[in-house]
Amino acid sequence: PPPVEKIEYKAEVSRLMDLIVNSLYSNKEVFLRELISNASDALDKLRYLSVTNPELSKDAADLDIRIYADKENGVITLTDSGIGMTRQELVDCLGTIAQSGTAKFMKALKDNKDAGGDNNLIGQFGVGFYSAFLVAERVTVSTKSPKSDKQYVWESEADSSSYTIREETDPQLVIPRGTRITLHLKRDDKGFADPERIQKLVKNYSQFVSFPIYTWQEKGYTKEVEVDDEPAESKKDDQDDQTERKKKTKKVVERYWDWELTNETQPIWLRNSKEVTTEEYNEFYRKTFNEYLDPLASSHFTTEGEVEFRSILYVPPVSPMGKDDVVNQKTKNIRLYVKRVFISDDFDGELFPRYLSFIKGVVDSNDLPLNVSREILQESRIVRIMKKRLVKKAFDMILGISLSENREDYEKFWDNFGKHLKLGCIEDRENHKRLAPLLRFFSSQSENDMISLDEYVENMKAEQKAIYYIASDSVTSAKNAPFLEKLMEKELEVLYLVEPIDEVAIQSLKSYKDKDFIDISKEDLDLGDKNEEKEAAVKKEFGQTCDWIKKRLGDKVASVQISSRLSSSPCVLVSGKFGWSANMERLMKQQSA
Ligand code: ADP
Ligand code: MG
Repeated sequence: PPPVEKIEYKAEVSRLMDLIVNSLYSNKEVFLRELISNASDALDKLRYLSVTNPELSKDAADLDIRIYADKENGVITLTDSGIGMTRQELVDCLGTIAQSGTAKFMKALKDNKDAGGDNNLIGQFGVGFYSAFLVAERVTVSTKSPKSDKQYVWESEADSSSYTIREETDPQLVIPRGTRITLHLKRDDKGFADPERIQKLVKNYSQFVSFPIYTWQEKGYTKEVEVDDEPAESKKDDQDDQTERKKKTKKVVERYWDWELTNETQPIWLRNSKEVTTEEYNEFYRKTFNEYLDPLASSHFTTEGEVEFRSILYVPPVSPMGKDDVVNQKTKNIRLYVKRVFISDDFDGELFPRYLSFIKGVVDSNDLPLNVSREILQESRIVRIMKKRLVKKAFDMILGISLSENREDYEKFWDNFGKHLKLGCIEDRENHKRLAPLLRFFSSQSENDMISLDEYVENMKAEQKAIYYIASDSVTSAKNAPFLEKLMEKELEVLYLVEPIDEVAIQSLKSYKDKDFIDISKEDLDLGDKNEEKEAAVKKEFGQTCDWIKKRLGDKVASVQISSRLSSSPCVLVSGKFGWSANMERLMKQQSA
């Protein structure tokens, strides 16, 4: 027999397995979801690669997943006809932590512990292949990649620091392509090897998998069989009657075993949106993106005409790395399909601009070529049109949240993604009209609840022509700024821009509903109340004082002037009309520090 090679796990794998087993012990059943999701990924990869290389699926095995539960022996076998793994891939993928799901799991575990922890939540996260060891004492992976002419067997025990790899030699176990995973269940977990239980789990966890999942089930059909219901003795006596006696029949159930299709394979986005419930959309979201919270909004639509595609988009309830998440353009948030074939979820601004990259969803197009490459995506006119439509739909969704009666929803959204929209103001001039109404700020008349620009405009004084703002590092310091005095006296509302990005965002917008944004800390603030006679008189009286102060301060200030903007403070430092505001100076200093 060919040699069996023993290989040590990378250190972090053993640690991860400990973590998984210890934190998920009450939610063991997730193992099935994880293995099915890997099988589905492997089938996706095969289907995608065979578009350009039909050789790959030449052996014609159907693309499906089959789960066999052997109750007596406590063994579950899960087979897929996907891309399989080469020997090297077995080492790289199953002996090392390479993957996304696990990183997310580790973070969730930490957050959850920090938050004082509910273990059930954790079960919702992708933890990957190693979750097999939640229920199995031994796991065997026999796999054949089209890239290799040999089939290999990977095997490991739970609680082991190593695994083995050998060639598959048993002709009965040879498969044309794909992966067969065998779980030898732990004594206390043998109950999972129950066909009915497996069927329930598949229905519960994996109904949105787009490949057929078959489970081995006992079935029955009723048939009619003839029966002799005469007692044996009377038979002998009445031999003459026999020909006249009617034949009696009875129904019996004939039992047999067969593969049974267990999931729904019609993708949800192909269904009529009128027939899909919110709960179904939410569930699709949670299962597709491995999330445990429902989205804030969803939108299911079909576009026709120039470019045709179907899509379901979602606004997530939280930012993945928390509010301080740097806005990342590379995400795996949009899954692109072409004619139902999964193409990619690896985008870099092709379908959404950076500031909207938090939107999640699926997009299925009939107009793109199946072998669409990154270069094609970047240059395609079709993709550009798709992007426009997707962006519009995303804005509609966000606007929908902002108009909802439930104010908290939008507060939550703003808390998580406000920064993204402000970035949008800076980067996407074309969408200013859509972005501006979504912005929220504190103001001198609303220090605790943020207001929209529409609310500001509604609240403007009849003679007021501009939208006033002051940039500062907090509401407290904004409201104590001497610049505010005159405006407060006149009951003019002032927006408090307290986030570093606010000022640049507002300056990019320039105006809202034909009202200019005006920084009250700049010189020349005109509140429309100039009294030239009075000013001339004051100038005469204090002109020399100003000259004297300027002389004393020298280069520290550009000029010293008489101002009508204060009511109780004796003086104030203002920025030049064309210079940076004090806030900007502070920011620039911070960045160069
Ligand atoms: P993830 O699915 O997030 O990548 P997993 O731990 O679930 O992480 O799986 C690790 C890797 O092992 C996968 O990325 C894939 O390369 C490989 N793998 C797992 N199961 C299969 C399978 N059934 N067929 C082919 N490759 C697989
Ligand atoms: Mg996985």
